[in-house]
Amino acid sequence: MECKRCGNCCKSVVINVKVDMADRDAEDFVKFLEMHGMKAVYNNNTIAVMVYAKCENLIEKNGGTVCDIYENRPKICREYSCGE
Ligand code: SF4
Ligand code: SF4
Repeated sequence: MECKRCGNCCKSVVINVKVDMADRDAEDFVKFLEMHGMKAVYNNNTIAVMVYAKCENLIEKNGGTVCDIYENRPKICREYSCGE
């Protein structure tokens, strides 16, 4: 899919936390995180937490939102596959 230059993928990070607890407790913990304004999903003993944190290299340029270190961006950025 072609990048629309919205910059959304550079404004948050998803942290996957493996948990060892009953499904009900994990779902309760997800609710707790949501009460603190976070987005979280529990699936298959893992809680995925989305943390809003804009990358310092995301800049406005020529009417779009672009990466200021595009040629040297980290591997995780180069390998990212957009679902938008
Ligand atoms: S890769 Fe996707 S989310 Fe990221 S800027 Fe492009 S369209 Fe937006
Ligand atoms: S380094 Fe560039 S591509 Fe990676 S998150 Fe920051 S702005 Fe986005």
